[in-house]
Amino acid sequence: MMSSVPRIQVLSDSLVNRIAAGEVVERPASVVKELVENSLDAGATRVEVELIAGGRSLIRVVDDGCGMDADDALLALERHATSKISSVDDLDHIGTLGFRGEALPSIAAVSRFMVLSCSDPAKGGARVTVEGGRILGAEPAARARGTTVEVRDLFFNVPARRKFLRAPETELRHAQETLWGAALARPDVAFVLRHAKRTLIDVAAATDPSRRFKDIWRRIDRVVSFEATSGRTEVQGLLAPGSGSARPMMTFLVNGRAVRDRLLVGAVMRVIRSSGPGFGGARVVLDLRLPADEVDVNVHPAKAEVRFSRGGAVFALIERAMRQGVAASQGRVVVSELEDGPPDRGLVSEGSAGGYGELLRSRRAAGLPPLFEHPAYDDSDGNQPYSQISDASAAPGANHGAPRSGAKAGAADTPFGRLIGQYRNSFLLLEDEHGLAIVDQHVAHERVLYDRIRRQLAGEETPSQGLLTPRLIEVEEAQAAALPKVAGLLLRVGIEAELFGSNTIRISSVPLDQEPGEVDRVVEDVLDRATAFDGVPERVAVEVEEELAASLSCRGAVKVNHRLSPEEQRALLSDLLETDNPYRCPHGRPIILRLSQEEMERRLGRR
Ligand code: ADP
Ligand code: MG
Repeated sequence: MMSSVPRIQVLSDSLVNRIAAGEVVERPASVVKELVENSLDAGATRVEVELIAGGRSLIRVVDDGCGMDADDALLALERHATSKISSVDDLDHIGTLGFRGEALPSIAAVSRFMVLSCSDPAKGGARVTVEGGRILGAEPAARARGTTVEVRDLFFNVPARRKFLRAPETELRHAQETLWGAALARPDVAFVLRHAKRTLIDVAAATDPSRRFKDIWRRIDRVVSFEATSGRTEVQGLLAPGSGSARPMMTFLVNGRAVRDRLLVGAVMRVIRSSGPGFGGARVVLDLRLPADEVDVNVHPAKAEVRFSRGGAVFALIERAMRQGVAASQGRVVVSELEDGPPDRGLVSEGSAGGYGELLRSRRAAGLPPLFEHPAYDDSDGNQPYSQISDASAAPGANHGAPRSGAKAGAADTPFGRLIGQYRNSFLLLEDEHGLAIVDQHVAHERVLYDRIRRQLAGEETPSQGLLTPRLIEVEEAQAAALPKVAGLLLRVGIEAELFGSNTIRISSVPLDQEPGEVDRVVEDVLDRATAFDGVPERVAVEVEEELAASLSCRGAVKVNHRLSPEEQRALLSDLLETDNPYRCPHGRPIILRLSQEEMERRLGRR
């Protein structure tokens, strides 16, 4: 039987524009981005943006660029009308931000639109009004040289899209991120952002980019800067902690160009989510520089995304840089003299479990004198004055994520030395022949879990618990679409997740030792990662497995500021010894900091 396929038709312009609008215009911030880019392309020295209701009611962009005459103002609203390229050759050396000629017609197709422009005040300007893609009128109008574009009631004629717009403050945050990006990328241009009657950004043109950074962050205190390099890729960043639980405001520059990219967002969020309170509503700026042949900034019509040829390396670099930023803003000292392994690296191999402990035991058996002569450090009588730092009466069951295996009450020494106790509910203090060792309990536990999850991914049986009430999490549609690709992997670590509508995911079982709320975040991390690596299928599996192991271990691990009983502390240390490398987390972060007796004496002026 013949199916009745309708005959092919050429789509009307207004329909094409509406379809394209779906690609270019996602929310008020994307309109701001396109309009501001047009202003910059027009050579503006000052760009003013005004929003009402987060841009849902009004987006107005005013510039002092080259402007358009009456004919051009009408032409600009035609699809593929652009003044920026005219031949295929031009494609190879695009110097402008836009060139597709899609933005204005797309935006005008889904809003009540007005452009008022003038290229030569002597000849007068023109005003063109459009509603839902239909040109309502074009008339002469006076204006100084430059252009004003007004976009009202975005998506008024596409209710399905309008429904997806978030609360005004969320939309405003996105728009603000966008404008920050433009402002940082172009310090030579003055920018203003007003919302209702509030001025959120007001920066004068500056010749020096670092001056622009300062201007934008002027009213924010506690800003820390950080940087990291890997090969020819380098990243510089700024971080200002916030308060509350809002998503951080993130601005990214890639080779001087403001972009929005899932991989970058993912790397930042990964660190923020594991950094405890104080980073909700934080502000992050990352300035990434890498060789031009390792990045493609033009994969998306709205140029919001970039594609990295070595996405994994970029992700790791940003994560490393961000961790430094977080550490710095929490006032943690970044210690440069970290050791990679036990002091006598030549004698022991890090990989051999028990090797280090054995070495220590044999030394003790050989009757080496204790290095610490102060009675408080004398381990000869088994009396540990400092063990009171941690309290054995800590409620047992309170530590859901704490390691349990191998806990032996009373055993005084550990593979890493004698346990002095827990410092600030965050670090384990130990002493050995060489001095003091400080173990980061969170990273140590993360290492333990990571190795275990890796074994589960490789086929080891995983215990999991069904949830009485399945959890429903709301995600972006792109994330939901990636679920089928990762569901099998999640199942191997004990997470049963399935689609439940177009942007909801239902989680019906979670790993035994995980808090269900944390599992939500793990699923989000993994989906972020899967979508970020869309289009590089051969890499997806590897990257997603890594993300899963990293995210699950980070979220499952005991946090800092969490009291551990002495038994739990010792169990953690002996589990740590069994891992592939007890001295480094899988991503290179040190787990143990050593302060040698020699160093201590030198700093105290004894040497
Ligand atoms: P594109 O930026 O890809 O060329 P747009 O649809 O964004 O496409 O804009 C179409 C054309 O309208 C531009 O090529 C430019 O000639 C003109 N134009 C748009 N905005 C401005 C502006 N603010 N100032 C001057 N000309 C503009
Ligand atoms: Mg444009």
